[in-house]
Order: sequence, then C-alpha cells, then structure tokens
Amino acid sequence: MRLLLVEDDRNLNRQIATALADAGYAVDKAFDGEDGQHLGESEPYDAVILDLGLPGIDGVSMLTNWRRAGRKMPVLILTARDRWSDKVQGFDAGADDYLAKPFHMEELLARIRALLRRATGHATSELVAGTIRLDTRSGRVTVDGLPIKLTSHEYRLLSYLMHHAGRIVSRGELTEHLYDQDFDRDSNTIEVFVGRLRKKLGVDLIQTIRGLGYLIDRPGAAETAK
Ligand code: CA
Repeated sequence: MRLLLVEDDRNLNRQIATALADAGYAVDKAFDGEDGQHLGESEPYDAVILDLGLPGIDGVSMLTNWRRAGRKMPVLILTARDRWSDKVQGFDAGADDYLAKPFHMEELLARIRALLRRATGHATSELVAGTIRLDTRSGRVTVDGLPIKLTSHEYRLLSYLMHHAGRIVSRGELTEHLYDQDFDRDSNTIEVFVGRLRKKLGVDLIQTIRGLGYLIDRPGAAETAK
C-alpha cells in the first residue's frame, strides 16, 4: 500500500512518515500545497494524510480539486484541535476521516488501516486467504498458524494482493502501489518478489494469470456473487 503524506511541519512530517514506513507502507512526502496537489493528482495512492493548513494551496482546496478531477482515494485530514468548522469543511470537500492535533501515532495508524480495509471491502483487520493469515495491526503473517518472516517488500506485496483478493492485479498496478516515488523500480522486478514470496509461503496461494497479472482467490467470493 502506498500513501501520500502532505504536512508542512517538517518535524511532524518526518515522525509520521517514519511510523508509516515502519508499519510497512510506501510513503511519498509533500511539504507544501503545490507539491501535494500535484502528487495527489498524478499518482495512484491507496490513502492520503492531509494537513489542512499548508503554504501554497490549503488542504480543503486541494481535496476539492482532487475530487473534482475524479480522484477517489480515501483521505484523512489533520486538523487543529477544536476547529469543528475545519472538520465540516473537510468532510464536505470529500474527506473520509479526520484526526485532531496533537494525536497519538497509534490512532493515526489504526485509522489508516480502517480506511484501507473499507476502501477494499474488508470488515476486519485480519485478512485470511486459505491457510494464510495477515494481521494488518501487527504486520504478522502466519501459514497454518506458524509465523513466517517477510521482508518489508514481500509483506507489502502480500498485503496488497490480500486486500485486493478476488481481483486480478497487474504487474503495473503492483509497481505503482508498492514503491514510493524515489524507489529504483527497475532493479527490483515484481516477478522476483512474487517468486520469493511464493517460496516463503510454501503454499499455492498466488496464481499467475497469464498476460494479466496475479490473483489471490477471495474466500466466499463465489457465494457473494450469487
Ligand atoms: Ca500545517
């Protein structure tokens, strides 16, 4: 999952970005309105954390512009405490959630997890596919109840495919959602990561759909389709 963080307070930006990276997300950072506006318009983010008071373009205007341009990613706004009018403006502009400053990082992470699972149609923070369980809170992955160790890239890949279980995900989509903008994408091909991940999982979970991409079956998908 790849996130955009727009926050002009450099110290806070760094703290949030570090916490998000530690939690296994790819993070792009913007420190002003113009940069944030441009990234949110042009890159495919799974969610955005958006401060409202920014130099250049303010957060509400930015959000309004994104929504007008048809960008649908979930957006969590950061507001100053007790500014209820900010929250109303933010929600009306298309925000999905808000957090008042100062906040606990754990709460921000929990809210991001909730936004991501709602956006992908999951009701719980533990994702299950066959014998594989992925706990989005702890980042723990088990096969048949036994924990396995994944690198951050392998975890990100598995998490993205499990969030989107039941849908074929192309290599291009994976490339766009697993790496931040500064990452050297050429030297780390998706095929290599999928191969390593399959080996570690040791079960036939990730299907290759020739010419299209990868698929993890969604349990009960056949029932809900009836
Ligand atoms: Ca600010």
